[in-house]
Parts: sequence; structure tokens; C-alpha cells
Amino acid sequence: MHNRSRRDFLRDLLIGSAALASGIHLRGDDKPEKGKDRKLGVALLGLGKYSSGQLGPALRETTKCYLSGVITGHPEKGEQWAATYNLNKKNIYSYDNMEQIAHNPDIDIVYVVTPPALHPEFVIRAAKAGKHVISEKPMATSVEDCDRMIAACKKAKVKLAIGYRLHYDLYHKEMMRLAKEQDFGPFLKMTGDRGFIFGQRAWRIDKKLAGGGPMMDLGIYIVHGACMAANGVAPVSVTAHEEPKTKPELFNEVEETLRWTMDFPNGAKCDAVTSFAHSSDQFRIEGAKGWMEFKQHAFTYRGIVAETSRGPLNFPAINQQAAHMDDFADCILTGRETPVGGELGRRDIQIITAIYEAARTGKPVKVKA
Ligand code: NAD
Repeated sequence: MHNRSRRDFLRDLLIGSAALASGIHLRGDDKPEKGKDRKLGVALLGLGKYSSGQLGPALRETTKCYLSGVITGHPEKGEQWAATYNLNKKNIYSYDNMEQIAHNPDIDIVYVVTPPALHPEFVIRAAKAGKHVISEKPMATSVEDCDRMIAACKKAKVKLAIGYRLHYDLYHKEMMRLAKEQDFGPFLKMTGDRGFIFGQRAWRIDKKLAGGGPMMDLGIYIVHGACMAANGVAPVSVTAHEEPKTKPELFNEVEETLRWTMDFPNGAKCDAVTSFAHSSDQFRIEGAKGWMEFKQHAFTYRGIVAETSRGPLNFPAINQQAAHMDDFADCILTGRETPVGGELGRRDIQIITAIYEAARTGKPVKVKA
């Protein structure tokens, strides 16, 4: 090695080791950033529709984190993403070698965006590699798996969040405010309908991968929204029944349409339906002194149309995914708890498990505390 380049090499090595020792993070672009001002690196795991259509683009708008890598089962997708997002090629991993992220300081957070039954395995592996994790909803397909995910993150001393983006949406924040401050009194009557027409064989109707049908994929939004409207309180019992299937050949493993009722400790009731046989996205909550209604796109990323008994609401549409990821990065940088942690994901799986049991037995089922 030439003398000068050897000197440069040694200098770089020293700077690098000193930076690591002092907690300074060297990003792919070699800009040292420190402490609370640095941007955290996110690696998306699972590069399907939600990652491509929403999370990747959202990470161009985030201010506290950025897309630094990907973990994928398809090397060609990794190449494509590297080109689109100008990723350092060393930050592209496969499911087989993802343990190596443990040695990559460019990656602080792994965001798991696969079919639900795979969330536990990937969340646990990311946590063991010392990375903070976001798991998409539904958190898992069983309460036991949620417990394993929570325990693994606790053991590794990393944070765990669920992809509950609506906590950052301004209309849903207004719903949470109304629930807390009780402008209209407690919301005692709630109704929800969330569905889309699904007509192909895919993981969303594969019981092993999805854990169920529309209830796991869409009904979860009403379950979660009703708990928000109940000021964070979970129902105590549920009843449910499955509607007759219109396409029994397709929905031979999971429900096609499910109706259910949730009873809350204060007497509030939520009547809801979820379906892969009709399109709908509505939610209404009523108190003694007023109501709020999400008339369109209640639980979707954009286009929410909502009003209260006082009149139409007109909040700016924000990028929910960007707000969610930025808040998680801020939680990590400041040591704050995330408002959308693993316990919330676990609570919802517990409620959904009770709803499935009620549908199976035809009897009311108590939701475990
Ligand atoms: P998708 O089918 O488009 O993508 C799934 C990804 O997982 C693909 O990259 C696929 O290659 C990968 N994968 C790995 N192992 C797989 C396997 N055994 N079978 C099938 N795919 C496998 O799905 P999506 O719509 O991107 O959904 C992914 C996750 O994101 C799900 O948990 C879903 O519930 C969630 N999601 C959340 C929202 C939201 O608004 N929060 C919206 C859409 C999807």
C-alpha cells in the first residue's frame, strides 16, 4: 500500500472506531450525525404492495428516519429498490442472511411487512439482531405469538411498535380527543362496516398465513377504532356470527363476511361487520350529547370524510405512515414509549380471538383482561 493511502486508511479507521465508541453514527453518505438530531435508518422487510405503494414513498417524507436498507426474499426486488431509493448495496439483505444486520449501523429499525403469520419470526429475528422493530397489523395470528414477540423485544432491550398509523391521523386524533374529554359524553353506540371485494386466491384468505379472513385484515380496524372511541378501554365480551358464503369455493378456509358485537364495561356497544364480499369503510359513534361519523374512507390512508353533530370536519390530510415512522424514531431517540406498542397489538388479537370463538360457538365470549 502506498504510504499516503496507508495513512488515510489508518486515519479513517481511527475516526470510524472513535465514532462507534462515542455513539456517533456514520450513515451511508458518510455524514456523521449525533444524538437526537440524527436520522435513524429503516430497513423494510417484505417488499410487497404496502411497502412499495406506501412505506417506501413515505420514507421520502420522514424527517427523523430514512430508508437505509431492505430485507427481501427476491434478490431482483432488492436491486430495483436499491436503484429507486439510491440504497447502498451492502444494505440489501435476504431472509437467509438478515442476522448480519446486527453489524450494520446504518440500520436502526426493521419494519416487518409480510403476511401476518410471518410477523413473529421476523420480529424476533430483528430483535435478536439488536434492532428496534415495527410489525404491520395484525401483529400475529395468536396471542401466544404476540407474547413471544413482546418478550423477545424486551429481552433484547429494543422497542416494538405496531403499524397503527391511524393514531397519527388528525381525524382519528379528534376522535380520541372527544373520547377523552367527553364533549358528547361517552360514546355508547358505535357501528362499523369495513370490507372490500376480494376474489382471488392469495395469502389474505389462507388461514395459515393470514390467521383468518376479512376479520384479521379489515375488521381489526373497527376493533381498534372502537377501543379508541372507548378511550383506550377494551370490550369485556363479544358475540359474533358468520354470514353464509357467496363464494364457498374461494372462502373454504376463512370467513367471507362476519358480523359481531362488542360490549364495553360502561355499557357501550359496537355493532360491526367486515367482509370480502362488499366494499365499505364507515364508522359512527354516538354519545348522549352528540356524534361523530366517518362517512368515507374511515380507516384508509387518504380521503377521510367525517363530520360531527357540530358540522363537517376539515383537517389537512397528513401522510399517516410518515408520521407514524417519525414518531417511532423520536421514541427511540428520546427514550419515550411508543403509543402504538406491542401490548395494543396483543389486545386486538385477544379481542379477535374471542370474536372467532363467539362465531364458532354461537355463544357470548368474555374477552380476557
Ligand atoms: P403483499 O402480498 O403485497 O406483500 C407481502 C410481502 O411479503 C411480499 O413482498 C412477499 O414476497 C412477502 N412474503 C414473504 N413470505 C411470504 C409468503 N410465505 N407468502 C406470501 N408473501 C410472502 O401484501 P401487503 O398488502 O403488502 O401486506 C403486507 C402486510 O402489510 C400485511 O401484514 C398487511 O396486513 C399489512 N398492510 C397494512 C396496511 C396498513 O394500512 N397498515 C395496508 C396494507 C397491508
